[in-house]
Amino acid sequence: MSIVNALEITREAAKGGYAVGAFNITSINQMEGVVEAAIEKKAPLIIQASVTPSQFLKPEVIVAVYRTLANQAPIPICLHLDHCTEVDYCKHLADVGYTNLMIDASKQVFEENIRQTKEVVDYCHAHSDASVEGELGTVSGVEDQVKVSEDEAALCNPEQAVKFVERTGVDIFAPAIGTAHGVYKTKNPKVDFERMAQINQMLNADRINTPLVVHGGTGLSEEYVKRLLEAGGAKFNVSTELKYTLIDATFNYISAKREEYNPGKVDIAVRDAIRSVVGRWIDMLGCAGKA
Ligand SMILES: [Zn+2]
Repeated sequence: MSIVNALEITREAAKGGYAVGAFNITSINQMEGVVEAAIEKKAPLIIQASVTPSQFLKPEVIVAVYRTLANQAPIPICLHLDHCTEVDYCKHLADVGYTNLMIDASKQVFEENIRQTKEVVDYCHAHSDASVEGELGTVSGVEDQVKVSEDEAALCNPEQAVKFVERTGVDIFAPAIGTAHGVYKTKNPKVDFERMAQINQMLNADRINTPLVVHGGTGLSEEYVKRLLEAGGAKFNVSTELKYTLIDATFNYISAKREEYNPGKVDIAVRDAIRSVVGRWIDMLGCAGKA
């Protein structure tokens, strides 16, 4: 097992009523912490990198580390490119070895979103085992290169969702349902659970065709997570919380041991903190023991 695309593991999740955690990484150390947590919990895993960290760390380096870790791990692991707005970069990273690519053309008009998404789907299916994620409607907030203000955010229309999935052949699908990137400004964000359940019903009633993705996991309460799982969420993206954890764990460690100058210990502190956050998410998503 070990190296898998996102469709294989999210389809199982959708059937089983749980979700696979998809955790954004910005450093190799963080990536190792995420993998350690999933191994501890015996959970299937999706490692995600947005475009900027992919470019900064170099996709070939990320893939080499991913394959090394995945080949040693007793769990299935997918490597996902998050929110990429460039068709050609999606294709390139499928060639390099990412196993799920998200083409985010959600800011384009409907027909153009379909055209770009289909182009990535056709290429990835012809040239690799990678699966492809598409998005319809827009998720507010900032995720790497994609910025959407709250008044620009548009929820996903269920009829259009069915057309989008049919015409693009996309493997997994992210409908905008009111979750947001970044940190929620309110304790009870307006999430349209019914819309999510309706889209799931329309796409996956007879059998699981196209597992659904929830963006903006950071800050959602346990109750919201549970309701989103019931509405069909099979992949949960968690990004901001991991960035905060990395920065806070680094800051706290160095503040407490200002004179130590031992980089390995800073890395261990970060990795421990990441492991604990990811472990908590895996428990909430119900995917512990599912690998
Ligand atoms: Zn997202």
